[in-house]
Amino acid sequence: MGRDGTEPVAHAGHGFAVRRRLPMRSASWRAACAATALAFALTATPHAAADGVDGDSFAITDATVFDGRQLLPQRTVLVRDGRIAAIGDRLDPGDLPVIDGTGATLLPGFIDGHTHTRSASELQEALAFGTTTVLDMGTRPEYLRELAAAAATRVDLADFRSPSLIATAPQGHGAQYDLDAPITSAADAGKFVAERAAEGATYIKVVLNGVRHIRFQTPRLDAAIVGALVTASHAKRMPVYLHAENEDDFLLGMAAGVDGFAHHWRDAGERPALAERLARSGIFVVPTLTAPDRLNDGQLELLRDDRINSRLSTAAKARLAERNPVFTTVSMDVSCGAVTSLRDAGVLIAAGSDAGSPGIVHGASMHRTLTLLVRCGLSEVEALRSATADAATAFGLADRGRIAPGLRADMQLVRGDPTRLISDSRNLLKVWRAGIETPIDP
Ligand SMILES: [Zn+2]
Repeated sequence: MGRDGTEPVAHAGHGFAVRRRLPMRSASWRAACAATALAFALTATPHAAADGVDGDSFAITDATVFDGRQLLPQRTVLVRDGRIAAIGDRLDPGDLPVIDGTGATLLPGFIDGHTHTRSASELQEALAFGTTTVLDMGTRPEYLRELAAAAATRVDLADFRSPSLIATAPQGHGAQYDLDAPITSAADAGKFVAERAAEGATYIKVVLNGVRHIRFQTPRLDAAIVGALVTASHAKRMPVYLHAENEDDFLLGMAAGVDGFAHHWRDAGERPALAERLARSGIFVVPTLTAPDRLNDGQLELLRDDRINSRLSTAAKARLAERNPVFTTVSMDVSCGAVTSLRDAGVLIAAGSDAGSPGIVHGASMHRTLTLLVRCGLSEVEALRSATADAATAFGLADRGRIAPGLRADMQLVRGDPTRLISDSRNLLKVWRAGIETPIDP
């Protein structure tokens, strides 16, 4: 099958070449990262109702469980009141309703680490495709207010967080989507952060522009302003995520002390030295491989997969066909090479789709994201971690991302085993948000 297919890409040359090396992430690094993330998690939850889990009680028996980190064969999972109560191989479901998981894999709901979300129907479609948490990376404040309120009360929507408007230079990247709140002076950083917090933001998004695949050059924030935004955000215990697309952006972001990178360097392929420096910094990256992919019409593969196509809304099909004329085509191989470096260096990678951008959709494009991560050298397990446990660590979401006692029962059941064949993630049988099953057919 060709580059657009969904067969296991272990057969592709790229996959084999990079899998020989194991990540070098140390236990102490992981612990430090988790501690930082947890500190944010304790303060960065604006809508307690969404986390006041009050879901159903049931048992899933004889399922293979991918718990967010590893594969556990033939397990029973007990869910009580929307939380995972127990997981084991000889558990008695008692009087709980039982779902037979034979032949299926139970895994945590996906966390999409990069979207631009404008409507409840997008959150609904995300959830119906197995994404239980949607992390927006720039939207209008009126959408943030409406969607945060909706997600806190409607169980048919994915959970939702957003930074509201994006900090960018006047007429910088983001302005073309009307998502910008321009900032011209480091002295205005405190005001910028206070305004976003008042709008309901739980983190801050900053756009650096050095975007070479855009047909025109837009202004770029300077290091002093980015540094001031980080200081002001951290004073409110809000993390800062930086839109970065080239090596200079990454160096500036590391120096400024940002908490995560949105996108990855797409102008240069493998850069082991940069990746190793990034790994030492402990800053995570959300490589939005779908962004270059859609410029090469890769997203259209979703329309050819009946498991996806048959369940896509009309609006999503229209969005997949959208094109943005300001972008030039970028090489998928170059983009992939950057992700290979990140993976080999042991950088914490969180999956993100950039859904809501032209040509990319909520929910379905997360499955395409996983396909692309595997194509770029992550193992199937690593790709699934990036959409579950590693995403939760990166974004400080301590209550989800794994199937473990005490956590929210944000889960999905799929036929087959996506740890062997990543496209099995598309064989959705059931999705639960906080233990409440959501309809998956339109
Ligand atoms: Zn974006």
